[in-house]
Amino acid sequence: MGDPLISRDDAAEALGMVARAAGPYLDALPHLPVRDPAHEHLLEQLDGPLPEDGDGTITAVADLLRIGTKAATHSSGPRFFHFVVGGATPAAQAGDWITSLLDQAAGLWLTSPLAARAETVVLRWLKEMFGLPASYGGVLTPSATFANLTGLACARHWWAAEHGADVTADGLAGLPRMPVFSSGYVHASSRKALQLLGLGRDGVRTPTRDDAGRLDLDALDRELARSGPAVLIANAGEVNGGDFDPVAEMADLARRHGAWLHVDGAFGLFAALSPRTAHLVRGIERADSVAADGHKWLNVPYESGFAFVRDASVLGRAFGSWNAAYLPAPDEEFVNYNNLGPESSRRARALPIWATLRAYGRDGHRAMVERHRNLAVHLGRIVERSANLELLAPVTLFVVCFRYRPPGVPEAELDGLNRRLGEELVADGRVYAGTTVYRGVVALRPAIVNWRTTTEDVDLLASVVEEIGARLTGR
Ligand SMILES: *Cc1c(COP(=O)(O)O)cnc(C)c1O
Repeated sequence: MGDPLISRDDAAEALGMVARAAGPYLDALPHLPVRDPAHEHLLEQLDGPLPEDGDGTITAVADLLRIGTKAATHSSGPRFFHFVVGGATPAAQAGDWITSLLDQAAGLWLTSPLAARAETVVLRWLKEMFGLPASYGGVLTPSATFANLTGLACARHWWAAEHGADVTADGLAGLPRMPVFSSGYVHASSRKALQLLGLGRDGVRTPTRDDAGRLDLDALDRELARSGPAVLIANAGEVNGGDFDPVAEMADLARRHGAWLHVDGAFGLFAALSPRTAHLVRGIERADSVAADGHKWLNVPYESGFAFVRDASVLGRAFGSWNAAYLPAPDEEFVNYNNLGPESSRRARALPIWATLRAYGRDGHRAMVERHRNLAVHLGRIVERSANLELLAPVTLFVVCFRYRPPGVPEAELDGLNRRLGEELVADGRVYAGTTVYRGVVALRPAIVNWRTTTEDVDLLASVVEEIGARLTGR
């Protein structure tokens, strides 16, 4: 069985098996429990010794399909509300299969003009969708974590240059610590990016004015007045309560004090798509760098993110290798994207983005954003009407932050009760939502970001929460 050359004729048949399994799987997806513990014994079948001889293409692919379609977390279905996990639109999912079929090496123009051109086109479309100036540089990344890393690496490059240093060539040696400011909403992935960049995870200063973490703009103004060149991270938005930092006011402060403004818009950038929510991200068009996710609210498969920077040339200076910093002109056609971001070899992740934007356009994606917001507002109303539920933050986009709080349960027991409720929800598997700590209390914070989700799915979430809550409190 060994050598794949022997089974080259099986290649199309193996893909055909996947394609034939897709129909039944996708038909079942809206009705499957998010996770079915009854199938988890199948995970054992992934294990075993490294095969010497191998089972051959057809057997291996059949096994993986059988195990995978049963034991997967069906998070691309309509009822996965835990964290912020998007689905995959039909066009994006097919685009992703095409990416696999073509297996492009998407780092260099030379290795794939198709991938490079598609990346240039989708970056332009995305800038247009979000209202970012066409002159911004950009690059696709595997995630918003990598997009934050990209934006903050550019910020670091700029900041070192302000101190007369070339961080690309010489690193940080001899430089002071880079001042970084944000609100209490700063996401763990921005801290991770700072950690990887040698800037330190814990150095972020967060002047805040309440226990939710809202930014204290006056305190920030005072700090910037004495910090020297600094980097601001605006969070658009925050994953627990769904609030946004005041991006426009931060852009004003950045301009006044000569600071770099980075916006983490992992999901919140999509607020720009609807006139009803665009005010939340007013000011992004003045940011120095902007990070966002494709695999969340754009509903393309993992792994997908993107970063934009005002000064397009800084990408090449921060990431260009081989001592030949590559400076693309804004209208550059023959771009080597591996010089503009943290990766070298990479997949053609522009193709699923191209497919979904070509298939549904700005209007289709706006409709999805508005539907999710309407569903979140609907869930917020259910919570407010229920005698057993308490809404903890106003609904801004798609996060509904609430807790189970039936009459008669003492405050001191509510955290424990909600934590158990979160665990029971996940164990139950009909819907998925989990707990966080918001303003010091344990809360549920379902996020509605999947194109498949409808009112019925959201209603089911509310009724399962009530049902499990009632069971836990013996009502
Ligand atoms: C999810 C998220 C990130 C990180 O995104 P990944 O795609 O998980 O790397 C960063 N910032 C915010 C606000 C997020 O919600």
